[in-house]
Amino acid sequence: MLTIQQIGEIKGLLSGKKKIVLTTHLNPDGDAIGSSVAMLHYLRSKGHDVEAIAPNQFPEFYSWMPGSEDIIIFEKSVAKSKELLSKADIVFSLDYNAFGRVGSMTKYLKEAPGIKFLIDHHIDPEEGFDYYLSTTKITSTGELIFNFIDMMGDIELLDKNMSAAIYSAIMTDTGSFSYACNYPDTYRVVATLIEKGVDAERIHRLVYDTFSEHRLRLLGYAISERMIVWHELKTAIIYLTKDDLKRFNFQVGDTEGIVNYPLSMEDVNLAVLITEKEKKIKLSFRSKGDFSVNDLARAHFKGGGHKNAAGGQSGNNLDDTIKEIKEVLKPLKNKLDYKLSY
Ligand code: 5GP
Ligand code: MN
Repeated sequence: MLTIQQIGEIKGLLSGKKKIVLTTHLNPDGDAIGSSVAMLHYLRSKGHDVEAIAPNQFPEFYSWMPGSEDIIIFEKSVAKSKELLSKADIVFSLDYNAFGRVGSMTKYLKEAPGIKFLIDHHIDPEEGFDYYLSTTKITSTGELIFNFIDMMGDIELLDKNMSAAIYSAIMTDTGSFSYACNYPDTYRVVATLIEKGVDAERIHRLVYDTFSEHRLRLLGYAISERMIVWHELKTAIIYLTKDDLKRFNFQVGDTEGIVNYPLSMEDVNLAVLITEKEKKIKLSFRSKGDFSVNDLARAHFKGGGHKNAAGGQSGNNLDDTIKEIKEVLKPLKNKLDYKLSY
């Protein structure tokens, strides 16, 4: 976290007009986009010259967020992004904990000469940033942005657009207040956001009730045809092949949320979504209770994240990846064998 002295330094830094670039992680989610948009509005309202860059396209169901249209997509605007990073006085890293999480933008981020400022809630942030506003005991990076605005003494600048972006970040990273949300402060923050004009019901509809027919059918297919339950390991996996994605006219974001469904079975403590991409296999892990998918992803699948939600990858083909996951889990059988109680 930031010391009182650092907060003073940052206030000083932001007291004159600065060139600022905001960055977020590959395959941006609601927290990544919400945090970027909230900071974009906040820092622009203070008179700074601010741009936000995402490594690749974000899902269409976040594009209602006012300000999201300003986000530059690195993959589509490499030269412009490189230029912005090389000229920025300050570069913010939002919602990720390691340089490598920005994909092919990593090199330019590392080389950026400006002050590097990480705002994030993942475990064990990498060294190399100048400032860290980082804790895992919070719902989301969006909530940390709220705290940052407060620390800067600027809560009166918080407007409806910033509030909607922060609310979206908190809502999506807690699965609509169903996990990682046992913090009294979160509900105080949310109360303030609603006072600022956030329509919580509408935001929920805009994010979760805007599926295409293809997307809903893909979800049904994934659960009925592509789910395997390993009862003895209290684990369920869902795998999707390249052909499956093609068949259901896959659009960015269409697989978001699928990994959570197996956890709705009483005797499943670990869910894995295995998605065959062009050059690699992407893995998403979710758990309930004490089993740490962050540890699992870090130790075996070149990834990480949070205790109950993490991602990773495999260099093997689909069949071998499934076998590999089962082999890795067998010795962890005891750790997976528990029943939730109150
Ligand atoms: P998802 O399964 O939704 O892609 O990711 C779940 C969580 O794990 C998110 O907080 C995401 O930022 C993080 N995550 C996903 N993939 C990776 C990865 O490859 N490496 C690391 N360190 N974190 C990841
Ligand atoms: Mn997040």
